[in-house]
Amino acid sequence: MDSLTRLFHSPPATVAAAPPDCLVIGSGTAGVTAALALVAEGHRVAILEAGPFVLAEHVGSGPFAKQHAVVPQLHDLVRHRTVWTDTAHATEAAAGTLEGNNNAWLAVGGRTLFWGGCTPRFLDGDFADWPYDAASFRPWYERAEALIGASGAGVGGTEDATAPDFIGSSAQTRLLARLIGAGIQAGAPPLGVDTRPVRNGALSRGFDSSVARLLRCPQLGRAADRAPLTLSTECAAIGLRRDGSRIVGVRVQDRRDGSLHDIAARHVVLAGGAVQSTRLCLASGLQELDPLVGHWVGDHLFVQAVMRLPEPLGHHAAYAFIPPRPDRPFHVQMQGMFGETWYSPLDATMWLDGEPDGRYLLYYCFGISRATREAHVAVSEAPAADPLHRYYVVAERTPEDLATLDAMERFTGEVATAIGAELSRMQRHHAGAALHEFGGLRMGRTAANSVTDPDGRFWRIDNLSCMDAAIWPHQGSANSYLTITATALRNAAALSAALREAP
Ligand SMILES: Cc1cc2nc3c(=O)[nH]c(=O)nc-3n(C[C@H](O)[C@H](O)[C@H](O)COP(=O)(O)OP(=O)(O)OC[C@H]3O[C@@H](n4cnc5c(N)ncnc54)[C@H](O)[C@@H]3O)c2cc1C
Repeated sequence: MDSLTRLFHSPPATVAAAPPDCLVIGSGTAGVTAALALVAEGHRVAILEAGPFVLAEHVGSGPFAKQHAVVPQLHDLVRHRTVWTDTAHATEAAAGTLEGNNNAWLAVGGRTLFWGGCTPRFLDGDFADWPYDAASFRPWYERAEALIGASGAGVGGTEDATAPDFIGSSAQTRLLARLIGAGIQAGAPPLGVDTRPVRNGALSRGFDSSVARLLRCPQLGRAADRAPLTLSTECAAIGLRRDGSRIVGVRVQDRRDGSLHDIAARHVVLAGGAVQSTRLCLASGLQELDPLVGHWVGDHLFVQAVMRLPEPLGHHAAYAFIPPRPDRPFHVQMQGMFGETWYSPLDATMWLDGEPDGRYLLYYCFGISRATREAHVAVSEAPAADPLHRYYVVAERTPEDLATLDAMERFTGEVATAIGAELSRMQRHHAGAALHEFGGLRMGRTAANSVTDPDGRFWRIDNLSCMDAAIWPHQGSANSYLTITATALRNAAALSAALREAP
């Protein structure tokens, strides 16, 4: 164990010896947001994280930000390949004979170590299938934006002159002017990057990351010292032991030595990311209690492109955001300026390091895909060395999805024309590649049509909740980070109140 981890790691046996009020599974934004909110309300919380500690903050906020050769190697310390496929290939996926086509990460901080920083909100209409409306959710968006230090257009604190747009270069102004001049509404993106001035003892926090939020928390300590908040690193929850309608223990594997432990808690919180939270429920047999477990999963439609301008825009940094509209269920992020290149999820902050003479813009378009009941997470039959890798996702593009993808590609051409650029390359990605997955433990108003209630609590299990996107019935075109964080804040507040009320 490295020396830094030793400062705050609690071995699972020590956690088991003094069961916490809440055991949170996962230390990404869902888990840490919920854990910190519960601790602030006086509950004792233990976090289990399957991955190791590799970074104390987001990769873009620290010294590696511009080390473009090192960043993918950092990913490789904590990344594994996964399979998203269609029904035609589901048998091969179950047998474990399909090559991995997607990425997943297990680390303290989860994907918050590497995410790209874009934090739009859903449109009001995106909540149509949710068990609550946009108006009641708005205060949670505001709290989440304040929590992550968000800046830029549409953020609750935009009027706050201390949080200006992260990018405000001449190239940005020129790019936006071309788009707006061609009738395409565009602005600076909302970003989870703290842009408040560095003065009077306050330092910018850079990109939000749950690992930094966790390490900043004064209550984080060791279970042996009865700290209110503990973290067990490289400890995976591999099963939920149930007695009737209660989870009586979480089976935990210490990945350092393979030892197994049972940890009891008054309440268990799933926050492993939508797919892993669902996978754990399936591996624990919860589908026998509720056949909807594992179903209604989805991911954004994702079209990626590169555009070449006839001339540089005069500065290395430009970032334009084209918002979705009710008649255009997708949004666009455009980043420049580069020499010819192609975005890689293993270097999501490459946009911090553009080239003043670059003529190329990276282009990402995320669109709404409707989840279907048939789309599901499944545990594969093939044995895998790591139980957390034993799954695959089956998700087809529906005819409606294909029509939206066509519209996204047409719009990409229109945007290129609008800015006077040539479309050098365009690609339509498969489901899963957007890394904005949701569903599997769908929430709803009644137990008949959903796994969890509007607060993410399981209808059929008294002491089990989910805080991540597994509970979402649907998503807007907006990237998921902000809405996951806001949902976790909301659900943690509801859980805290319920724990106080219950005997
Ligand atoms: C390269 C990249 C760029 C991105 N860019 C953006 C962006 O610009 N904007 C945006 O909104 N989103 C972006 N995303 C997506 C965003 O990062 C995720 O949607 C979000 O961080 C997910 O948070 P989470 O807490 O639900 O899950 P995760 O971040 O996946 O965290 C879950 C944690 O739980 C742990 N875990 C899982 N199962 C278990 C278990 N059984 N036991 C113990 N621990 C477990 C995992 O190890 C992991 O650390 C990006 C993602 C990536 C990878």
